Amino acid sequence: MTNSTNKKKIYLSSPHMSGYEQEFIQEAFATNWIAPLGPHVDAFERELADYVGIRGAAATSSGTAAIHLALKLADVEEGDYVFCSSLTFSASANPIIYQRATPVFIDSEEESWNMSPKALQRAFNDAVQLGKLPKAVIIVHLYGQSANMDELGEICAQYGVAVIEDAAESLGATYKGKQSGTFGKFGIYSFNGNKIITTSGGGMLVSNDLEALQKARFWATQARDPARHYQHSEIGYNYRLSNVLAGIGRGQMKVLAERVKARREIFARYHEALAGIRGIEFMPEAAYGRSNRWLTTMTIDSEELGTTPNELMDALAEENIETRPIWKPLHLQPVFQDYPYYSHVVGESVSERIFNNGICLPSGSNMTYEDQSRVIETIRDFIKRQRLSRKKAYDMRKKGGLAKSWYCRREVQIN
Ligand SMILES: *Cc1c(COP(=O)(O)O)cnc(C)c1O
Repeated sequence: MTNSTNKKKIYLSSPHMSGYEQEFIQEAFATNWIAPLGPHVDAFERELADYVGIRGAAATSSGTAAIHLALKLADVEEGDYVFCSSLTFSASANPIIYQRATPVFIDSEEESWNMSPKALQRAFNDAVQLGKLPKAVIIVHLYGQSANMDELGEICAQYGVAVIEDAAESLGATYKGKQSGTFGKFGIYSFNGNKIITTSGGGMLVSNDLEALQKARFWATQARDPARHYQHSEIGYNYRLSNVLAGIGRGQMKVLAERVKARREIFARYHEALAGIRGIEFMPEAAYGRSNRWLTTMTIDSEELGTTPNELMDALAEENIETRPIWKPLHLQPVFQDYPYYSHVVGESVSERIFNNGICLPSGSNMTYEDQSRVIETIRDFIKRQRLSRKKAYDMRKKGGLAKSWYCRREVQIN
């Protein structure tokens, strides 16, 4: 969408440096540790592990790489099943395919937008019937909110299946007072440019199993056997984090708590300004935890509001304000649509409803008060205008077929 304004661009979630990063980067340069290992990597791993309260961490070149290593550690191989949240970014599931395993997508619940324990239980019931349990379950903590770890964890534990937490979006969030990403056998974080803290690109694998983390570091550095010459008995990867980027990460760790606070404040202000409008609902915060509110997300009842998410996103784009739809559920993605999928209850797909009605609002911790006022005013003005021409909007919606007639994928069971 083009915009007809030269107003300053407001980004969805842009990098927010603390000022401490430069010192660490300079130290890396001064000591010539310009390599995918070094003192900043070791220190970043230690500092992050201490912050979230887990025994160890292994820094990686991306969150995706960390998920891949976690799957290898869970012994996921060709033909294995891996259960995975459907309402997420494709990177949550891509590594399942790297391992030539089969993803089985699990729908969301209303309360947290995260994995539905009901859908997970039904997938397990079928897997038991077939005598083929999954090797791992990837539980995603969407937009900074922890999934219902007690219920989901209990189901997985009952079958002895490893939990991998994709906490790429939820660093700094808590579940029952404990840090998101520290409940499963493995947890992963991402430091991509749009995440709550960033190293421009990077990730972290965390676990209480230090031996497993050592194995992950081995695979991540080309699986080099201990020998003077280059010797390899396994296929490795080049997945380690640069010492320079780990320096950025150390600078960012110093302000993680501040960043969580800032994002929560941004959410609170949107909520205060917009939650009273009939037809707008914000992503709920489940009572069991504290979200980092990485992105403020809301769903729209188009009928009630007199406008569709697309129309609203267009109106914001015209004011040079970046927004995004909710993640398109992976079970609807062309590349994944033939894999099994379990909806929340048969015939009711919660993730599809959220996708079809949702919007992510600009939520960067470096947004100014005025930036946020602009977003709020643009939304209010647009809704007012739309309500005046409500009938027109309704007819358009019918033509566009967005409001009620969205496509609902049939549940496909594993076989
Ligand atoms: C960002 C993200 C990832 C991938 O992390 P990268 O560091 O970009 O590889 C994985 N899962 C989720 C849910 C994400 O949001």
